[in-house]
Amino acid sequence: MEPTASGQALAVERGPLAIGIDVGGTNLRAGVVDSDGRVADSISVVTPREARALEDALVSAIEALAGRHQVASVGLAVAGFISREQDRVRFAPHLPWRDARVAELLQPRVGLPVFLEHDANSAAWGELYFGPAAMGENVAVIAIGTGIGAALLVGGEMYRGSNGVAPELGHLPLVPGGRLCPCGKRGCFERYCSGTALAATADEMLVAHPERATILAVGSELDGSAVARAAAGGDPIALAAIADFAHWLGVGLSIVADVFDPDLIVVAGGVAASAPLFLEDARRSYAGMVTGAGHRRLARIRCSELGPNAALIGAAEMARRKWALAELPAGTAAPDQLSDR
Ligand SMILES: [Zn+2]
Repeated sequence: MEPTASGQALAVERGPLAIGIDVGGTNLRAGVVDSDGRVADSISVVTPREARALEDALVSAIEALAGRHQVASVGLAVAGFISREQDRVRFAPHLPWRDARVAELLQPRVGLPVFLEHDANSAAWGELYFGPAAMGENVAVIAIGTGIGAALLVGGEMYRGSNGVAPELGHLPLVPGGRLCPCGKRGCFERYCSGTALAATADEMLVAHPERATILAVGSELDGSAVARAAAGGDPIALAAIADFAHWLGVGLSIVADVFDPDLIVVAGGVAASAPLFLEDARRSYAGMVTGAGHRRLARIRCSELGPNAALIGAAEMARRKWALAELPAGTAAPDQLSDR
């Protein structure tokens, strides 16, 4: 991708910029982010399958962006388990890293401090710094895309559990004996409430009701966004699939509320863009399921506006703040030694 025209100006006017990289199983998306959460420049490449090649690709992306902008730190949003010290990737199902000291490997090569964060936590930082999560005390962020990623912010702090593993809400079993999940269980929340689930539900409905007029066709190319587009156009099968999605979203959120009692739930991820289609129905389903609904204040449910860049933006801002507070990872120069970059 080409840099935006505003990129250089932002570097001058707004102080230290940071690079955020969403390290996904399919693509690496790297962006230069300013202190207002705006992405000034970005690069996207296919994620290499081998560890050394992945590190080389990250170094290339960082060097390309750091060559065009005055950046001070790097934050990686990784789809995997991160050590509590945020310097190591313990395990990432779709990446080649296994107990890899990623910060230590990258820092000497790029000359910048590198911080790691779980991708759902990164998205939650983005929602806290630049989205609706700042409006809550105890906030559950549910990022719905291909699956469900989740994070909990308690009084502005990330809840990391005993093992540094973000809450795996996507694998709450909602439907006994339901759809098989890649995690090995059946009936998981994300099998009924994700982009993938939306397509699966529409597919099932098409097979069960061949007599119903619809613009959707049974087949593998059917995806969540196609169903959402058809629903926005009033397609009856797509609308029924959305209603099913909204029902399960409400049920899943009621369990989240029963366990964590948040005052705010932020629905993020790719599906947030289609919120007008499902959010009111999900709120109704949630209010009908949460324990003691008539006798407690219900958590507000808000949608993210950061879109698919939430993790990238959150990782960059986390890194920028850690850099500013001089919370540097081991083996890195202090901020003033890096400031001439
Ligand atoms: Zn599962």
